[in-house]
Amino acid sequence: MPFTRSPAIFLDRDGVILENREDYIKSVAEAVFAPRALEALARLAATRYRIVIATNQSLIGRGIIPVAAARAINHWVLSEIGRAGGRIDAVYICPHAPDAGCTCRKPKPGMLLDAAADLALDLTNSIFIGDALTDVQAAEAAGVRAVLVRTGRGWEQAQLLSANGFAHVPVYDDLMAAVEAILDGKLPHAKAQSR
Ligand SMILES: [Mg+2]
Ligand SMILES: [Zn+2]
Repeated sequence: MPFTRSPAIFLDRDGVILENREDYIKSVAEAVFAPRALEALARLAATRYRIVIATNQSLIGRGIIPVAAARAINHWVLSEIGRAGGRIDAVYICPHAPDAGCTCRKPKPGMLLDAAADLALDLTNSIFIGDALTDVQAAEAAGVRAVLVRTGRGWEQAQLLSANGFAHVPVYDDLMAAVEAILDGKLPHAKAQSR
C-alpha cells in the first residue's frame, strides 16, 4: 500500500474542550467540559481524522503547577472523552513561560509541526479549532486551516480576526457547531491568501 498521510483535527484544550479559567485550570476539580464538547468529540471519533490536542500550559513554566499535575489533568480529560465515545490520538503541551523563547508556544507552530512529523499528518487537509487569535496564527503558520469558536476567549478574540488579516477564518458558536460544519462539508472554501 502506498504511504498516505492522515489529515488531523487539532484542538486547543482550554476554551474549546474545557471551560476556560482566567486563573488557569490547576486541578481536575477545576476542569469542566464545555457544553456539547464531549458529544462533538464522539462525532469526530468516527471519522478518519487524527485528533490532536495542542495546548499552551504556561502555568507549568510559571511554577504554578508541576508538569505531573498537568499530566494528571490531561489523563482525566482523555479518560472522560473516552468514556463518552471520543478519542484523542495525541496531546502536545507547551509548558514554557511566555518569555522562555521556545518554539512550541502558540502563536508559534512548533507543536503542530512536531505532531505532523510524529504522526505523518497531512497538514494542508488538517483543521485547527481554537478560541484565540494565537491558535489561528499557529495554525496558519503550519499551513493548517483555522476555525475559531466563540466559547472560552473566542467571543472577544473573534473581534481581533479582521484587524490581524484573518477575516477569512470562519467562526462558530462552539466545538459541536464547528465539527458539524466540517463533517457536513459546510466549511467555506479556503480563501486565497492575498499576502
Ligand atoms: Mg484556549
Ligand atoms: Zn514551549
